[in-house]
Amino acid sequence: MTTLFVSDLHLSYRRPEKIALFKRLMTGPALKADALYILGDLFDDFWIGCDDDHPPNQEVMSILRDYSANSATQLFIMRGNRDFHLNQEFANATGCTLIEDPTAIMLDDKKVLLMHGDTLCTDDVKYQKWRRFITHPIIKWIYFIMPLSLRTKISRDVRGYAAEAVQKKAPEIIDVTETAVLDTLKNFGVETLIHGHTHRQARHEIKFNNTQATRFVLGEWFEQDCVLVHDKTTFRFERVDDYIKECKLTR
Ligand code: MN
Repeated sequence: MTTLFVSDLHLSYRRPEKIALFKRLMTGPALKADALYILGDLFDDFWIGCDDDHPPNQEVMSILRDYSANSATQLFIMRGNRDFHLNQEFANATGCTLIEDPTAIMLDDKKVLLMHGDTLCTDDVKYQKWRRFITHPIIKWIYFIMPLSLRTKISRDVRGYAAEAVQKKAPEIIDVTETAVLDTLKNFGVETLIHGHTHRQARHEIKFNNTQATRFVLGEWFEQDCVLVHDKTTFRFERVDDYIKECKLTR
């Protein structure tokens, strides 16, 4: 059993090399995996609908569609804060299954919790408020009855505002808080948590209540790129290109 986890690819026309890398992963080793999880922020620009023709929306959707058509691998996608509004139309068009944040899965009889990670950054009170607003079903409904031109304008305005807000914040505010992590582990009764969002790739070992827990933070695809591979009961981080090459050698 091989399960792959990626997040924060931030695919954009500004970085065509990362779109090419994603395509190589999706037409190579990802086809042979048993399940692939994309844990949010697949896109860099706000995702505003399947009718949006701005690159790389259609190209990425076609990579996902081909992948679903050519493999038996289950493709799961979680929404991130760039793609809050991925909807059933997107799932139908790409063959993926959208999963809620958080979602618990079983990996080799062990319960593993998957999140995007933004809800763990509880010190960022302003952001959490905004997130509750933007993800509200009524707001989402209103957004999707708007014409594409208006959705585009709103997403551009929000993007500018969000980028400015992040620049003003201290780095610790936009990281997860220990309390949120511990509460999450306890509430869901899990010893393994996998998330992205903070772009601080790491494997954290956490001790609480005589329990040893592990928190995997997936890396971003801006500067680096990262895939978390789970096979034969162990996890390992790899650079995507290394993983592709390694899979070619062992075939
Ligand atoms: Mn994010």
